[in-house]
Amino acid sequence: MLKALLLTAVAASFSFAAEPAAGPDPDVALKVLLTGNRRFVAGRATHPHQTLARLRELSKGQHPSAVILSCADSRVAPELLFDQGLGDVFIVRVAGNILDDENLGSIEYAVEHLGTRLIVVLGHQRCGAVSAAVQGGKPAGHVGKLVEDIQPSVEATKGKPGDAVENAMRANVLRMVSLIADDETLGPVIKEGKVKVVGARYDLDNGRVELVK
Ligand SMILES: [Zn+2]
Repeated sequence: MLKALLLTAVAASFSFAAEPAAGPDPDVALKVLLTGNRRFVAGRATHPHQTLARLRELSKGQHPSAVILSCADSRVAPELLFDQGLGDVFIVRVAGNILDDENLGSIEYAVEHLGTRLIVVLGHQRCGAVSAAVQGGKPAGHVGKLVEDIQPSVEATKGKPGDAVENAMRANVLRMVSLIADDETLGPVIKEGKVKVVGARYDLDNGRVELVK
């Protein structure tokens, strides 16, 4: 009897680990981010969830409501520009907000194990990594690899009207959105509507975040 009870308890704990409570509806999560951004832009940020009490509340686990793949640029700090705090957003940052296997693994982890249902790919105005890719050539060292990963978006927008860096940045955001949507792990849950992936652009001049479609 005791053995049966123990086995049931073990099975229950495993099933909890594999299927955490699903996070908020992705549309609600997106609205929370955009509303936070509007507060930031208006100079009315509330800096939520940044107390020691919040830190203690999270010490046993996290259920962030969004995963954000953003550029490493020091001016693009997601917690600040979305007016969020500890435990609110799971952030993956790399110059040019590009996907590689490790980044994708981080995103999958948040979705599969933390119950996060919204993925945001956040590009930004005048991105240095995108500018380097638009300038062409192959920069020395590992920067060359970054530029190479952005190159398809530069090629896709070459000769289009408007600013070349802006066009390539938007194309790069949308390319990462499609790569995530086509991922063999994330693709099915995105198609089922359980998880949503969106592209967004951060404006360095006024701090505003707009969706990129
Ligand atoms: Zn950038």
